Amino acid sequence: MRRRFNPLAAALIIVALSTLVIGYCIFNPSLAKVTLIIYTCTMVCATLILALSTWIYRKRSTSLDEKELTKVTENLNTELIIWANDFSYVFINKKLRDLLGITAEYSDKKEGVWTAFGINTPDLTAIDKILESNSYESSFRNPQGILVTIAWSTSLVKRYKKRSIYVSTGFNLTELKKMRVNLASANDFFNSSMELAEIGLIMSTDRKIYRASPELVRMLGLKSSTISANEFRSLVHPNDRIQFDGAIKNNNLSEIKNIEMRLRSADGTYRWYSHRFKSIPGTGNTLPLFGGAVIDVTQEHEKDILIERLAYIDEVTEIANRNKLVVTGQEIYDSCKILGYSFWIIVLDIDRFHIINDTCGYNNGNYVLKNFAHILYKFVTPGGLAARISGDNFALLLRDYGDEEMPTRTVKSIQDEFSKLAVDEFASINLCCSAGYSKMPEDGSSFLDVMEHAEFALKSSSGTNGSICGYEPSMHDSIIGNTELEKSLALAIDNNELQLFYQPKIDLASGKIMGVEALIRWIKPDGTIVKPDDFVPIAESSHLIGKISEFVLNEGCRQNKLWQKMGYPPIVMSINFASSDFYQTDLKDKVFEALARSALNPQWLEVELTETLALSDIDFAVDQMNKLRDLGVKLAMDDFGTGYSSLSYLQILPITLLKLDRSFITDIEHDNIAYEIVSAVIRIAKSKKIETIAEGIENKVQESILRMAGCDYAQGYLYGKPMPPEKIQEYFDSGSKYPYGKSSK
Ligand code: C2E
Ligand code: MG
Ligand code: MG
Repeated sequence: MRRRFNPLAAALIIVALSTLVIGYCIFNPSLAKVTLIIYTCTMVCATLILALSTWIYRKRSTSLDEKELTKVTENLNTELIIWANDFSYVFINKKLRDLLGITAEYSDKKEGVWTAFGINTPDLTAIDKILESNSYESSFRNPQGILVTIAWSTSLVKRYKKRSIYVSTGFNLTELKKMRVNLASANDFFNSSMELAEIGLIMSTDRKIYRASPELVRMLGLKSSTISANEFRSLVHPNDRIQFDGAIKNNNLSEIKNIEMRLRSADGTYRWYSHRFKSIPGTGNTLPLFGGAVIDVTQEHEKDILIERLAYIDEVTEIANRNKLVVTGQEIYDSCKILGYSFWIIVLDIDRFHIINDTCGYNNGNYVLKNFAHILYKFVTPGGLAARISGDNFALLLRDYGDEEMPTRTVKSIQDEFSKLAVDEFASINLCCSAGYSKMPEDGSSFLDVMEHAEFALKSSSGTNGSICGYEPSMHDSIIGNTELEKSLALAIDNNELQLFYQPKIDLASGKIMGVEALIRWIKPDGTIVKPDDFVPIAESSHLIGKISEFVLNEGCRQNKLWQKMGYPPIVMSINFASSDFYQTDLKDKVFEALARSALNPQWLEVELTETLALSDIDFAVDQMNKLRDLGVKLAMDDFGTGYSSLSYLQILPITLLKLDRSFITDIEHDNIAYEIVSAVIRIAKSKKIETIAEGIENKVQESILRMAGCDYAQGYLYGKPMPPEKIQEYFDSGSKYPYGKSSK
């Protein structure tokens, strides 16, 4: 250990010596002068020696500290060089020596400094660069030929005159550089893959600013890879924005969500994209991420357009059909719930459309439907929809902006436009429509629920042409009432409170009974008779109709056979089927069983179907009807003219009898159009070998008009109201009307 000069000790020695000399001079005054001279000389010499030794010490101590420093830094786990700018001293620690492959004594390897700094020949500019830079990056090859990169940070340790000692500590970047290269190539690989697969990516950590991948930048022609949430939204087609907003605002995004939407692309046109995205919550080390992939699916969409057309476009009007309305409506409903928006659903019905259809012909009927659809389409606002639900029923979805008058105003404008269509062949017809509306999500727990309420509002105002009626929750009471009714109807079936009444059907040529129609009645224990219109629709909307129809089928067959057994000549028993009965796949078996059980010959059974029922799935209906015909059962088309039908269906449907609806008969004495329709229908039916019957004949004038028009049969109050079995037997027995009278057995 090198001993250090201690100035305090030197001062103490001087003070002690001075005290001794002063003491000696006091006690020996005679020698004081000489002593002081000698003392002064000694002090001067001592000071000189002291100054000289300090100078030497200083000079020597520099190299001493450097050596100490080298010892401390020798085994540091970082590359380190201590160097003097006059190259009188260079120390390279073990870590760096190992890296450079230097085994010899550090001080001999002065060039090692420059190798480590990546410099071949040192010059002042090179040194200045090292000193000036906070992080001087040098690259050199080690003896193994590996490229090493070190970032040096250099600081001055000591300066003595022109000599300065510096310490340079290194941060080895070699591995980091390698990683960066790997990362960059992985990134390149990733971007190329995405480019090849044409998958764009968009990610955000705060949902405000998004980073778009190079492929997405290319696809959408973005100006930069950074895009704000608003900018991205502005690229979404206005009609898809509500679905988009709803989808991304959904809080439950832990699962991958997919939304198909149109985005404005690089060429300025809207293309279809599938946007698959999710939200990844942040962890301690990572930020939350939100975003996903954007894939151009325009081609697939174009392929799907044909399928979509079939599935979602109405053939006649070329606007959306019911399926599309239900799918889009539910999407909008969900978005409304998330975003706090509201939408109106307006359900519209063309007043007396069947009359237009029948008086003006099928093509003209379609023309009216198309034009009505076209008018509706004009009122669609972004995000909304116009659709044809069925027949002459349409729907309009409109965004609500807090204006409660909007639906009424819109319908009035539609009515105005529609009435203007009444020119040429429609000139004599008052073209108008009625509407019911409700608001979502307020007015129901699902889109279908809300739509049902709008339909409910429409029906509740039906009867008055051009009526516009909004849904009121109070209308619900009657719905609740229906559930109550449903419960008591179920009980009534179990308690055998249902009974068949029979209404005679007359052969207009002979004036004799040719058959009866079985019409159901619910006779309550207190004797009240409930008519089918008041409970059949409820039974149809629940599962009760199946039980009712089974009863009607079996009871009708049994009663008819019983009359035959009682000796009455055979007549045709007509029964009514609801749509849900008719679409049962085992219908043929059920009818066959009923016939077998009662031993009734199939020719004495007739099934009545309504046209709307038959047309809701025409192929299936034709198939089902043929099966019944194969059994030998007769088929009648009930209420002909009330639905959206056309005479052309008479060619397709294997019916044996056409029942002209009562609405044509009621005013046939005064309504020329009705008379023309009825005679035309009868003529066409005859040409197709289909028999005709008129419903609702109440007076002799109507009867003779129909006879004149060539109608085969008649049914109505003129001949008799629906009556219980014992009453109709009395009617049979009364003689005159019955074809052959009761046999004498
Ligand atoms: P529908 O099959 O068209 O039956 C004819 C309806 O017109 C009967 O009403 C009958 O009483 C009524 N009617 C007959 N002649 C006249 C007339 O001259 N003037 C007037 N004002 N009305 C007349 P009802 O019995 O109330 O039946 C109504 C509807 O209920 C039936 O119409 C039918 O669609 C349905 N229905 C009746 N029974 C059944 C059944 O067993 N099953 C099913 N699924 N539906 C049934
Ligand atoms: Mg009927
Ligand atoms: Mg009818």
